[in-house]
Amino acid sequence: ISHFDIDAIRAQFPILQQQIEGNPLVYLDNAATTQKPKAVIQAITDYYTQCNANVHRGAHHLADEATRRFEQARDTVAAFIGARDRSEVIWTSGTTEAINIVANGIGQRLQPGDEVLVTEMEHHANLVTWQQACKRSGASLKVAPIHDNGALNTTAFTRLLTDKTKLVALPHVSNALGTVNPIKTLTAEAHAIGALVFIDGAQGIAHGGVDVSDIGCDFYAFSGHKLFGPTGVGVLWGKKAVLQDWPVWQTGGEMIAQVTYQSSTWGELPNRLEAGTPNIAGVIGLAAAIDWFNRLDLTAVQTHERRLLDYATEQAHGFDGLQIVGTAADKIGVFSFLLEGSHPADVGFLLDKQGIAIRTGSHCAQPLMQRLGVPGTARASFSVYNTLQEVDALFIALKKARQMLA
Ligand code: PMP
Repeated sequence: ISHFDIDAIRAQFPILQQQIEGNPLVYLDNAATTQKPKAVIQAITDYYTQCNANVHRGAHHLADEATRRFEQARDTVAAFIGARDRSEVIWTSGTTEAINIVANGIGQRLQPGDEVLVTEMEHHANLVTWQQACKRSGASLKVAPIHDNGALNTTAFTRLLTDKTKLVALPHVSNALGTVNPIKTLTAEAHAIGALVFIDGAQGIAHGGVDVSDIGCDFYAFSGHKLFGPTGVGVLWGKKAVLQDWPVWQTGGEMIAQVTYQSSTWGELPNRLEAGTPNIAGVIGLAAAIDWFNRLDLTAVQTHERRLLDYATEQAHGFDGLQIVGTAADKIGVFSFLLEGSHPADVGFLLDKQGIAIRTGSHCAQPLMQRLGVPGTARASFSVYNTLQEVDALFIALKKARQMLA
């Protein structure tokens, strides 16, 4: 039996200890952003109090120490995601920037007649970016359909893979529905027809167990803030052979080799794709978050999260007028729903009055909401520190909300 002490975990999150309008805070908005353990807050404070300096260029003690912590963080991320080469880990400001870097790299080579394949469940970041890259290049955007339960229609996906497909971009886990995609199989299929594969890991990463070498994809991106780390930092992992061949992203300090007034040459990876002073504190905070997460028993974490979702689903089945949105067999962390006769925004408001934080709306997936024929959803999303009692609190609060809305 694995050791999983939920009270000890919760005690590490100062923000969870507060009351909202006289009720204990029940934070169920983890797909938007996760809370930060003391270890992360401390690592950021330590950096600013002990060794704040610019990285890579200093000839002094503080700069050396900042650089050491900053580059060690790259090793931490590489190990965490199973990357074989640390220079394939590129710091970004988040998933969104990572997708834009990939679009810049691939986009400049797309031509009329080429195709980019995404899915109906994309977050805007992994849709609008490709839509615009296709508009600029004359390539076509293809959209693989989902089933009504929110699972990807893999037969249709396979049918849409052709020799015109240059890139497949899809989420590991849907932020709106929690659907987990079979990314390893889909990657193999896409590779078989010669397409590159980008995985939007914004939601996949926080549930642990990501191994990019095993998945076999060409790129995987995530944001630190959804993995107990700070905002403003994220990761693009990509295969070296592809990344080093790309046009540069931003230009400036750090990313160059030689510069004259009239021309420049570019540095090696990872610096080549990291222009300017990076988010040093953010990077160090993210590494602290991964170190913290690594100390948990992953199997116990996954079992716990599974139990929270199963418990919520079970409660929902006995709750009149509640419709779960997204019932794919392989699903994690996200409980999206509608209350009959009420708008999700009103449900969210009434839950907030009872200390329960969820998210309502289209979850940056307007086309997905249109596809499902819903105005948006109310979404409770779970993390390691949530408890079964908090799921109970959600349903007690929902009952009150239902009475008030009737
Ligand atoms: N993709 C998915 C699936 C997401 O959930 C998010 C964040 N909501 C993003 C992309 C964008 O992440 P960020 O805003 O941190 O760049």
